[in-house]
Amino acid sequence: MAEIVLDGITKRYPDGAVAVHGIDLTVADGEFVILVGPSGCGKSTTLNMIAGLEDITEGTLRIGGQVVNDRAPKDRDIAMVFQSYALYPHMSVRENMGFALRLAKTDKAVITAKVEEAARILDLTEHLDRRPAHLSGGQRQRVAMGRAIVRDPEAFLMDEPLSNLDAKLRVQMRTQISRLQRRLGTTTVYVTHDQVEAMTLGDRVVVLRGGVVQQIGAPQQLYDEPVNLFVAGFIGSPGMNFLDATLEQGMLRTALADLPVGDRLRQRLAAADAPREVVVGLRPEHFEDAALLEHPQGGRTATVGVEVLESVGSDVFVHFTVAGRRTVPGAPEESAAQRRDTGAATGGREVVARIGTDTRAAEGGPLELWIDTDRLHVFDPVTGAALSHADT
Ligand code: ADP
Repeated sequence: MAEIVLDGITKRYPDGAVAVHGIDLTVADGEFVILVGPSGCGKSTTLNMIAGLEDITEGTLRIGGQVVNDRAPKDRDIAMVFQSYALYPHMSVRENMGFALRLAKTDKAVITAKVEEAARILDLTEHLDRRPAHLSGGQRQRVAMGRAIVRDPEAFLMDEPLSNLDAKLRVQMRTQISRLQRRLGTTTVYVTHDQVEAMTLGDRVVVLRGGVVQQIGAPQQLYDEPVNLFVAGFIGSPGMNFLDATLEQGMLRTALADLPVGDRLRQRLAAADAPREVVVGLRPEHFEDAALLEHPQGGRTATVGVEVLESVGSDVFVHFTVAGRRTVPGAPEESAAQRRDTGAATGGREVVARIGTDTRAAEGGPLELWIDTDRLHVFDPVTGAALSHADT
């Protein structure tokens, strides 16, 4: 096992396109780090540079303290798991899993022992003599994992390993990968475009956009203190709601309500030299049906027109529209795309609130919503930077 250090890693493709801009990242020994971002943000390119499948244009890559920029993939002591699994169809599970060890001329008895141990961990023992074509998608995925495990590498590199599985299996495998990584304690870098996967799997998450690192942090930290509009909108589902606001007389005036600015937020906004025109961010769970709260503490209420109500069993999502620009520049497309089209053809900003299932709200009717004003985020509309956290 080993630490992986990316020091100013940049990738410029021969056509001049810069896919990755100066990434600085230290993956600690045994850590599970996720690279996440929308398609084309440079996740796979970064992983492939760590693996040695792409040349590094600038910067230094160290694995286990050694500079490996010019080392061939096979000499980096890493094991990759791909989306496609890349299993050999004419080989049994046993042969597939032991293939790399056979190539390395490992002793036969050692290969057998390692393959059988990996099969036991991955619950594949009874399938060892079957061919990949006779396995389910989840089993094939586990064979691909097994092939990586038997090599006992310094690090695992995984590129969207679950994206060929159906939704239910993906959730199961997510838990298995997480347990497996903890059990083996092998340094792992994992690429996904799925923010839920990123939030549930990793010790730390690296959010990339256009080849540039936006934020690196523990999942909860990204959720609670996103550094900019992009991270705020990308992490969380449904995404954070954004409202245009004017900061005046201790209030954030929005088309939804005038939101009071508490002392702590006021100090932070002053320290950040916040402009008058800002963007307010409110997560769906920071709303509640006012009728369900006996003694609301602080906050504000606003009456909205319910366009769509979605009950998901544990919660109800209320969709409504407030005046404002339809999208916020700098926020990810995903936050809008995650939402269903409520037919708000007249424009305005669609907002989603998550409320209790006891609500009596009805589509087409009015609803008095309570807003937790202690939890709101404030962003600079020009730079997208968060103005509401202590560390920004
Ligand atoms: P992701 O894995 O996040 O979807 P990639 O790392 O595959 O993104 O790609 C990052 C960027 O680099 C994209 O804009 C992509 O078009 C570009 N790119 C990827 N491979 C090549 C290549 N071989 N030549 C030129 N540009 C490439």
